[in-house]
Amino acid sequence: MDTRKLIYCVEDEKNIRELVVYALNSSDFKAEGFEDGEAFREGIKKALPDLVLLDIMLPGEDGMAILAELRRNKETRQLPVILLTAKGSEFDKVQGLDAGADDYVAKPFGVMELLSRVRAVLRRSRLDREQPMLQVGKILMNQEERRVLADGRELQLTFKEFELLRFLMENENMVLSRDKLLDIVWGYDSEVETRTVDVHIRSLRQKLGDLGEVIETIRNVGYRIGRGA
Ligand code: CA
Repeated sequence: MDTRKLIYCVEDEKNIRELVVYALNSSDFKAEGFEDGEAFREGIKKALPDLVLLDIMLPGEDGMAILAELRRNKETRQLPVILLTAKGSEFDKVQGLDAGADDYVAKPFGVMELLSRVRAVLRRSRLDREQPMLQVGKILMNQEERRVLADGRELQLTFKEFELLRFLMENENMVLSRDKLLDIVWGYDSEVETRTVDVHIRSLRQKLGDLGEVIETIRNVGYRIGRGA
């Protein structure tokens, strides 16, 4: 039995597509490339992959439209998607993550970086399936469905707000420094400043309403969730 994870790569630039497919196949994956949304859709019908690498700029239907369709469809709603973005288009990245992508890789990217991101997203999605629910006090998070209930009320969180809350909840009662939060939630985005963490915390607290106090500010260090929840 073939136990390799099946990865689809949707990319119209032949050189990049072939390189990615070659790199994945040379590693411990099984990969297939598609040049546009139409070919990809045919591929999905034949076999559902474990993860999709999706280019944003495609001829005809773009990657964002394909992602939206995957998220609308019941069979593909949980399918991990990593967006391949053009160099320096910050707009694409933010939009992509808020549209439900699991991660993004900016072109030009190194093969080793791509492989490690693929592994990280697969690991994450496996953990989510094994233990989908997180709870701190009256805050309930379903990681698999990416839904958060605050005292029974559903919150509309952006991608980063969700990731930030998830990491805080995973580490209930632990003090997390701004640097640590930046590293985990934003990671590779070196241009992001620690102030960004404060901005997102403020927005999270607002959305949590009366439960906002559950996120405590630890002076000169960072944040903690849990006490008094
Ligand atoms: Ca392209």
